[in-house]
Amino acid sequence: MTLLVVGSVALDTVETPTAKREGLLGGSATYFSFAASLFTAVRLASVVGDDWSDEYTQMLFRRGIDVAGLAVIPGGRTFRWSGRYLEDMNQRETVEVQLNVLDRFDPVLPEHYRRCEFVYLANGPTSLQRKVLEQCTGARLTVADTMDLWIATEREGLLELLGRIDGLVLNESEARLLTGENNLVRAAQAVERLGPRFVVIKKGEHGSLFHSRHETYVLPAYPTADVVDPTGAGDAFAGGMMGYLAEQGNFEPNTLKRAMAYGTLTASFTVEGFSLDRLKTINRADLDRRMDEYRRMLSF
Ligand code: AMP
Repeated sequence: MTLLVVGSVALDTVETPTAKREGLLGGSATYFSFAASLFTAVRLASVVGDDWSDEYTQMLFRRGIDVAGLAVIPGGRTFRWSGRYLEDMNQRETVEVQLNVLDRFDPVLPEHYRRCEFVYLANGPTSLQRKVLEQCTGARLTVADTMDLWIATEREGLLELLGRIDGLVLNESEARLLTGENNLVRAAQAVERLGPRFVVIKKGEHGSLFHSRHETYVLPAYPTADVVDPTGAGDAFAGGMMGYLAEQGNFEPNTLKRAMAYGTLTASFTVEGFSLDRLKTINRADLDRRMDEYRRMLSF
């Protein structure tokens, strides 16, 4: 089934303890769509400026991602994000965020986008997520992500959005910030009370937690020795998860659990390179090989 994503498309600067790279292709919607395209057709809605390279659009297009909803604003500058990882690579500081064209972007979705059954509102301004959701008349499953910046600046809009979506994906510090609960199970329960039927809390190298009215469980991360750049791991996790759900065409509890596992493994490839360097080299068979290994690891 078709999958729509709205979120940021960015030019990133990333600094790790051993390297610094500038002008990298990034953004929540970019990582998400690359990951999800391993499973299903993806329609990308976002905005860039005229500093954007058409080569990047071609790269998305070649991957089978529909870019009809990628607006180019003449005279505008693309969203830019810059982050620095500390020694253990689990902790990240945001050095700079320039919203540029992402601020106040007013999306008008192409007709075929509005009919998508699976909708993912990736990290980006809450107002943008709400404008897109309103246009998605064919949605059967709507899931969103958010982050500290939007929890702080658009809290009211976010609370309203939470009342209208089926699932929320966020990381542990954001879950604590949103709910005021320190314990992650309590935080997940508190998110559920705000509206979504299920919640996924990402815990970096410690895996992820799933919570719904029916069940609560954790899945470990795939143990990776070659962490080059963790940027985009969360978005690739969501892309793997939603891509698998859209491919299966349902969101039953067992499908959701397998989707969480696919999200975990998609993220594990993403961190093995800067930007999309590693993700763009893998295919579904690589993912399935890692899935066999992951299943063996978890059976006892
Ligand atoms: P992740 O590592 O999964 O949190 O995703 C990092 C990606 O999200 C980078 O490529 C950034 O360009 C993008 N990003 C960072 N901050 C924001 C923000 N406030 N809104 C939207 N996208 C963002």
